[in-house]
Formats: sequence, structure tokens, C-alpha cells
Amino acid sequence: MIKKILTYPKDKEILTKVSEPVTEFNDKIKELIQDLKDTVQYNGGAGISAIQLGEPLQICVINWAGIHVLVNPSITRSRGEHTMREGCLSVPGLFVDTTRAQKVWVKALDENGNEIEYAEGGNGSYIVQHEMDHFQGKCSLFEEYEKVVANENNK
Ligand SMILES: [Zn+2]
Repeated sequence: MIKKILTYPKDKEILTKVSEPVTEFNDKIKELIQDLKDTVQYNGGAGISAIQLGEPLQICVINWAGIHVLVNPSITRSRGEHTMREGCLSVPGLFVDTTRAQKVWVKALDENGNEIEYAEGGNGSYIVQHEMDHFQGKCSLFEEYEKVVANENNK
């Protein structure tokens, strides 16, 4: 089901929460994963994390070169560095240049709890790194938003 995406700064309290690993693949988790898929595709986003729907769980969906569900992902290896313009569905209309690893290798579970490896260079790599920041309650666009507000206040 398409769900409402939480936005910054309105939903700051929830969006800055640290997400917990998924321990059981029950119906609630499966429904959440389906909602994440539906919502990211409906909005034409490149990725979404569960916290953006208000659930502090380590689940993200990458909508780049197909739909990839990553549960409890961890980066096992990374290579290179590249700067790219990033946006976030929770901070509409704002973009910021962010420097990240050019390629990452990610160990994760899929939507059925099976171990998978996701290895992506370029856009897929930035997207997964961006989504994993959300698990720490962080997002490059939250920082950018605060900078923009601070600049406005100094005028
Ligand atoms: Zn974001």
C-alpha cells in the first residue's frame, strides 16, 4: 500500500531515531516491505528506508536497476570516492553534493530472510549508503536543511 512519507523537519523526532535490526520475518515485516516498495515506486524515488514510513527498522528498498530489498544491510567492502548530487523523499525540493564510496559491497537479508550480497558502483552505491544513513537517524539532506535555515536567519 502507498503510505505517507514522513518529512523533515515536521517529523524530525521520528526521522532522527536509530533503527533496530529485523529479528523475525513475520507478516507485519512483509507488509512493511510491500508498503516501502509501493511508496518508493509511486513517488519515483531512488530509495526509501523504513524510518521514512515511521518504522525504526533496518529495512531499505533501492529502486535503481530494479527493486532491491535490503534487510539489516552492512557494508563489507568499499572502493573509491565520488561526489554526487543527492535528494531525499523526506526533504522534497532540496539537493546537496555528497561525497561517498564509488562502489560498495553489502551483505544483507532479502525479504524472505535469505542472505544476499548487493554490490553496486555508481548510483546504486550512493543510494544504499544514503539509505543506511537513515538507520543512524541521519540524512545528508537534514544537514543541508539546517544549513539553509541558518543562512536564512543570518540574512
Ligand atoms: Zn534521505
